[in-house]
Amino acid sequence: MAIDGLPRLKDVITDHGLQAKKSLGQNFLLDLNLTAKIARIAGDLSQSDVLEIGPGPGGLTRGLLAEGARKVLAVEKDPRCIPALHEIAAAYPDRLEVFNGDALNIDVTQHLTPPINIVANLPYNIGTELLVRWLTPKDWPPFWDSLTLMFQKEVAQRIVAKPATKAYGRLALLSQWRCDAQIVMHLPPEAFSPPPKVHSAVVHLKRLETPRFEANAQLLNRLVAAGFNQRRKMLRASLKGVAPNIEDHMIAVGIEPTDRAERVSLEKFCALSKQLEAHL
Ligand code: SAM
Repeated sequence: MAIDGLPRLKDVITDHGLQAKKSLGQNFLLDLNLTAKIARIAGDLSQSDVLEIGPGPGGLTRGLLAEGARKVLAVEKDPRCIPALHEIAAAYPDRLEVFNGDALNIDVTQHLTPPINIVANLPYNIGTELLVRWLTPKDWPPFWDSLTLMFQKEVAQRIVAKPATKAYGRLALLSQWRCDAQIVMHLPPEAFSPPPKVHSAVVHLKRLETPRFEANAQLLNRLVAAGFNQRRKMLRASLKGVAPNIEDHMIAVGIEPTDRAERVSLEKFCALSKQLEAHL
């Protein structure tokens, strides 16, 4: 028995034959004290629904429920995990809904009631793609209030990176434009079973009601993608295809055409998107 009265996660894995699959990015958290700590980082969840992607055998799910989440909707691709998750649902009546499916292909938001927070130990192979989707909806504010997500340490560093650093790029700009983002926990490989080759970190992103600077979302996305796609090139070269006379527009908002993308602040990228919006 574990602290929540359910079987120990080690036994759940043995009993349900949940040997980790690399192809699904399966590195499980087995320490319920640790998963409860991650749940607490997400804040008071008693008045909110939680979307969890990739619950696996349910360590973080149990942490979220034990810490009082109003409801958890858990989306898991691996059908082998579903019976184990149903056992947790039985122990927390009406508080856990389990979905067997691919988080990239299903929209489960109609099963959730705002406020909604997303908490997940994400599979490494789809983590960045999901984050970018959550950060770039057409309308803002999005359906969620906060994201508490486990990433490979290097990805976490890219989310919170500042200009003129190696990690600064598209993820930093998209995250910091519309959220406050910070790294809140570091985890060594041994925290997981099996241990991955890399270190991990939990990032907490709290959405802003309105983006930090005014910008045209579509143009900002294009500018950032083009600018950092060839990050060693001068911006006047890497942004050439985005708009005619791009150098003039850059000068108009105070960007040196000979600068590289990594030296340009979020505020300046936003200003350039507005400048192009007005002139294209
Ligand atoms: N949350 C569990 C924990 O902390 O122990 C498991 C985390 S493990 C890093 C990632 C989980 O995501 C695995 O259970 C894996 O099967 C699941 N997964 C992988 N790809 C997925 C996808 N496309 N949609 C939903 N779940 C996925």
